[in-house]
Amino acid sequence: MNSRRDFLKYSGLAAGSLITASAFSGCDASGQCKVSNRVGKGKMKLRFKPYDLQLKHVFTIASNSRTSTPVMLVEIEYDGVIGYGEASMPPYLGESHKTAADFLSKINLEQFANPFLLDDILTYVDELVAGNYAAKASVDIALHDLAGKLTGQPWYKLWGLNAAKAPHTSFTIGIDTPEVVRRKVKEADPYNILKVKLGGGNDKEMIQTIRSVTDKPLCVDVNQGWKDKYQALDMIHWLKEKGIVFVEQPMSKKGLDEMAWLTENSPLPTIADEAIQTVKDVLPLKGIYSGINIKLMKCGGMRAAHKMITLARSMNMKVMIGCMTATSCAISAASQLSPLVDWADLDGNLLISNDCFEGVQIVNGKVILNDKPGIGVNKLSLA
Ligand code: MG
Repeated sequence: MNSRRDFLKYSGLAAGSLITASAFSGCDASGQCKVSNRVGKGKMKLRFKPYDLQLKHVFTIASNSRTSTPVMLVEIEYDGVIGYGEASMPPYLGESHKTAADFLSKINLEQFANPFLLDDILTYVDELVAGNYAAKASVDIALHDLAGKLTGQPWYKLWGLNAAKAPHTSFTIGIDTPEVVRRKVKEADPYNILKVKLGGGNDKEMIQTIRSVTDKPLCVDVNQGWKDKYQALDMIHWLKEKGIVFVEQPMSKKGLDEMAWLTENSPLPTIADEAIQTVKDVLPLKGIYSGINIKLMKCGGMRAAHKMITLARSMNMKVMIGCMTATSCAISAASQLSPLVDWADLDGNLLISNDCFEGVQIVNGKVILNDKPGIGVNKLSLA
């Protein structure tokens, strides 16, 4: 009950929302619900609770280092069934426990007749206040989880996707000393593709260190770290010889002409990450990058991500689905879309030591979608 009390403490809709164990009788312990397209008479209740993810290693990219990530855990309850969602808010994105709580407190889901009105509900949430994409994603994920549970199906099935086409996920190696990098490569043994953070001034040392211990395919993420298009092209040619698959966000998100030149001349695909946020950003990147990295926390959730994939494919662009450090809740939500993408970078739950959900598994480096309804997660008692 402690976790429920914590949720209620932070909820603007706490009064009268306590539910009894019997309310869960429609779902068994694994999250399977014996209901089908159930539309009840209840009202949707939104609850949220701040949580801090502890990172297993200090995480360093070109711009900063950190040891924890604030998240907001969200529940939407309807007719005794609970949908789970999460906002992961690394500080550089500008959201926090406070901004998320302020935003979520403004939301009134009780005005909607049922959770299947996803389009109406998520358009309302999106238009409520500008920005707050991670907080919006937490509501989007919880609503998808809820609607999926009420339908009795996981979202990849509702979208008609083949779980066998879910990709292998990369495992991220942060910028570090050769000794630590070698240790992390060993830790990444079950993964078949590694994502290497570059742009910290020791790029060749990073790659040479990794290549001294493994010949696995690598992709690199420069996080805007290269300052000049000629230097970037030289590096990309060097990286191609080292078996790199693609280069993510090589230069500043602002220099579109330079980036278009680099993409045109690059022997490797270039992928936009910092340069793209949500649906409206896809079309302007045609011809500027070879592909896009979609993250639920940047675009506002599963609905926007699905639209972005469709739009990018219509322009013949590559698609990658990525993540922030997050629990298995947000990772499992993103994984529902993974059969649609070229590459997945869904290791955010593997980088933390206090995951409070279990969901999609990575087996021999591959994303394994399960048959549980919604986003396919069970909540653990940690949070
Ligand atoms: Mg990136």
